Amino acid sequence: MIRSDSSLILEIHDLHARVEDQEILHGLNLKIREGEIHAIMGRNGSGKSTLAKVIAGHPSYIVTSGKVVFQGRNLLDLEPEERARSGVFLGFQYPVEIPGVSNLEFLRVATNARREHLGHEELDTFAFEDLVRDKLKVVQMDPAFLERSVNEGFSGGEKKRNEILQMALLEPMVSILDETDSGLDIDALRVVASGVNQLARPDNATLLITHYQRLLNEITPDFVHVMAAGRILRTGGSELALELEKSGYDWIDQASEMRD
Ligand code: ADP
Ligand code: MG
Repeated sequence: MIRSDSSLILEIHDLHARVEDQEILHGLNLKIREGEIHAIMGRNGSGKSTLAKVIAGHPSYIVTSGKVVFQGRNLLDLEPEERARSGVFLGFQYPVEIPGVSNLEFLRVATNARREHLGHEELDTFAFEDLVRDKLKVVQMDPAFLERSVNEGFSGGEKKRNEILQMALLEPMVSILDETDSGLDIDALRVVASGVNQLARPDNATLLITHYQRLLNEITPDFVHVMAAGRILRTGGSELALELEKSGYDWIDQASEMRD
């Protein structure tokens, strides 16, 4: 079946990027369409987080060539804040703590920036509290976390839930979740995965970045990509994740050698 390109949300074409003086991404290609869940797997150091940060617009990561098209626009022309407002969400591997900033207020400001972009009215504190209480259910989070400073003193699992709560509020077009499973016990993993599953819709897309297969027991991806040395080496269906679980990443070295 040939799908029309109008369903394309994110297209990455021959992307090269460096950090400091080192090129990390060496020509990466990826197409993500509406309704799809993708997973990128790969060894530590293969460039997965670099890809996520380049898409989000982290200033330390410099694109040297290639393009990233988001809903028909050149994403790389947009400031990081504009990317977020226009519907690109990055859930961090290590969510930052912001002492002194109320989580509720932080979430409200972010949500209103996104709403403004969508042409929706701004929510005052009261209206936002109603919305956020509803969204808390997605990640089974206690409202007490809204009164605390952003992520301050949150456990690993609580930080990741807070990321998914943010995602639930922002309703992004594409959500990139970097190692959302890292540091989670199985119960927290299930809650987070269930949140991600609840938020996946026919008109948005999800990119899961993970080292391990276990997240993919809870969230079934449509495509699994294996990344090595800054490139996607192989793409398959969800069965590829199971294959990796069995055979590990050793075959990659051979595949890379044959290729170079
Ligand atoms: P992954 O997420 O797959 O584990 P990363 O994208 O974090 O991989 O890292 C890929 C490579 O880029 C690694 O060799 C790492 O040391 C290097 N790298 C990433 N960020 C930086 C940075 N800020 N400064 C220097 N090197 C970096
Ligand atoms: Mg990483």
